[in-house]
Amino acid sequence: MPPSLSGSPEVPCVQCGRRVRGLGWAELCPECTARRKRRANRLARRISLAATVLMAGWIALRRPSDPTGQLYALVGVVAVYIIVQRIASRLAMEFLPREPAPSEPRES
Ligand SMILES: [Zn+2]
Repeated sequence: MPPSLSGSPEVPCVQCGRRVRGLGWAELCPECTARRKRRANRLARRISLAATVLMAGWIALRRPSDPTGQLYALVGVVAVYIIVQRIASRLAMEFLPREPAPSEPRES
């Protein structure tokens, strides 16, 4: 019996090739998406930590004297961390290269 053409077809994931019902063409299956998101978040955390250290270093050099300046500096450091983390995570989700086949479980 041929596969029915009605309903959502089973589309292979572009990365692992597993067929998933309801997946769009050229999309990742939920498992691969989650794995990619973990990688992207890990990378984004490193990038944003580096940016935050740079920002903190720059502020330490400038040494704001008044309490308001110090408060703004603190808020700025936190904001840099959050903003850079979000942007880097989004960019990494888009531009990270494809992973090797997910057969081997690897965590770090
Ligand atoms: Zn997949």
